[in-house]
Amino acid sequence: MDRRTFLKTGAVGAGAAALAACSEGEQAAAAGADAPSRPRQARRLSMVTTWPPNFPGLGDMALRTAQMIGELTQGSLDVRVYADGELVPALESFDAVSTGAADMYHGAEYYWQGKAKGFSFFTAVPMGLTANEMFAWHHFGGGKELHQELSAQFNIIAFPAGNTTHQMGGWFKKEINSLEDFRGLRMRIPGLGGDVIQQLGATTVTLPGGEIFQSLQSGAIDASEWVGPWNDLAFGLYRVAPYYYGPGFHEPGSGLHCGVNLDVWNSLTEFEQLAIQRACDWATHMSIAEYSHQNAAALQTLANEHGVTVRSFPDDVWARLEEASMDVVSTIGNSDPLTKRIYDSYMAARERSMLWASVSDGPYLRFRRQGGDAAPQ
Ligand code: CA
Repeated sequence: MDRRTFLKTGAVGAGAAALAACSEGEQAAAAGADAPSRPRQARRLSMVTTWPPNFPGLGDMALRTAQMIGELTQGSLDVRVYADGELVPALESFDAVSTGAADMYHGAEYYWQGKAKGFSFFTAVPMGLTANEMFAWHHFGGGKELHQELSAQFNIIAFPAGNTTHQMGGWFKKEINSLEDFRGLRMRIPGLGGDVIQQLGATTVTLPGGEIFQSLQSGAIDASEWVGPWNDLAFGLYRVAPYYYGPGFHEPGSGLHCGVNLDVWNSLTEFEQLAIQRACDWATHMSIAEYSHQNAAALQTLANEHGVTVRSFPDDVWARLEEASMDVVSTIGNSDPLTKRIYDSYMAARERSMLWASVSDGPYLRFRRQGGDAAPQ
């Protein structure tokens, strides 16, 4: 449905609601008649998030989604956004929505992998799908149905509502010239990416974003990934770890999601449900556009103003990362029957995507002139 059709439908919906409101008194007077259930006042919904207050990029995606839900429902839904700790701590967002203590969350599904292993596949897995491939899998490749089956077990329905696009490999204090250089390396890299580099002999450390700079500066860690040029520049990581590696193998297009309590969802009108889905889709598209623009601009700044040169891992390191990634992902994927179905669907999407990319984006981006001082050496 395009925007014009949608707005038209919205206008018709609002008109029908107004009509229903006019005849409400008569209907109430008629015994046994169905009274309209649509609330006439704005319904306030709480959205808890896994992001700190005023967090650029990820926090903006939550605000943008909430605002668009209000606009598309013409104010019948009023979504209030709460940053990490304002209503509940970041990682309790899922439980808060599951139990109904909050109505919605905006966050990264892989934070819930302690609840079910399958959640990782809906954010990112090492050597997995890119942002566009993730969205394709969700809408056309069976991802949506599997995600909803998984979330329903926790009384939640979730929709993609943002994507960080391709993340970078990270900032290193020393060059990586061979597999040997990973041995004994202390790196901040959370989740499955961390499991992969452990197979290469590295030690992994989990630190919140705010502690990365100081830990690199003090020598407590030798390397750290964060997000990409936009968010990395903001932290000033180039000042304490001069070697920037890209692309990242571990988060090739991290999807963020908006999860809604299922009882709340079922109490909404069809029009409100549609508006939430369209707002989430729109937030995904906007974040892909925003990250594509902001990362490109920040990379120019890193190269031109701070002399940063992006490097690529040697081929043998990439080969080992691919091998270890498939090992880690398959172990997770075989942990229970539903995760296995998610894993099989995801890997089938990956196989299709690789075939198509091998004759489209892959060669095209290689053939197009790669320019600038920041291009990988
Ligand atoms: Ca990251």
